[in-house]
Amino acid sequence: MSAVQPRRALVLLSGGQDSATCLAWALTRYAEVETLGFDYGQRHRVELDCRERLCTGLQAMAWPGRLGPDHLLTVDVLAQLGGSAMTDEVTIAMQADGLPNTFVPGRNLLFFTLAAALAYRRGLDVLVGGMSETDYSGYPDCRDSTLKALQVALSLGVDRPLTLETPLMWRSKADTWALAQRLGGDALVELIRCESHTCYLGQRGDLHAWGHGCGGCPACELRAQGWEQWTAQRSLNGA
Ligand code: ZN
Repeated sequence: MSAVQPRRALVLLSGGQDSATCLAWALTRYAEVETLGFDYGQRHRVELDCRERLCTGLQAMAWPGRLGPDHLLTVDVLAQLGGSAMTDEVTIAMQADGLPNTFVPGRNLLFFTLAAALAYRRGLDVLVGGMSETDYSGYPDCRDSTLKALQVALSLGVDRPLTLETPLMWRSKADTWALAQRLGGDALVELIRCESHTCYLGQRGDLHAWGHGCGGCPACELRAQGWEQWTAQRSLNGA
């Protein structure tokens, strides 16, 4: 494991599996880590409750004193723009352009812009997000090239060198579970399994092997698939 860096990081924490893993990743690397969440009128607010439980759980783990304040910003404008299954009561479906209607155009661009503004105020230099191009829905604002371009634009825009880190960019969902295991052992895997939220329908329901959720929406399916692949790899390796 690499040495702890004196830099200070801001992690975009939604309350999902990916951002929770990114938070643990940042806690292993940076001396100080703050978290940022967005209330953007998402249909289901269960994610926001998960954020708190994840922060409390991670506080108690192996990185004492590194986890600083949590910030929550209200961003009503995305719901005003409308038209997405994440903010409107519409059925999840594929659009004519080949993207699912769970795509919220501009969301990550806006979130990172606000994160850069907060980082400027708080004196933080690294922005960490859970975007991935590997098992993803094709959202263009999750692409590595989009975020590389954004890093340049934001650094110029606040006249400060900001680094955008996306540790999951080239990791599958199975790799993301493996990363959590490496970072915090079974305790971290269990925290993320039980307390993070992925389901597009906002259902907690029963605790499945892979965590809570409806089990049928694209997000639950991806999470369940990743869990199965990871546990299969683990048993092959005799872990
Ligand atoms: Zn679901």
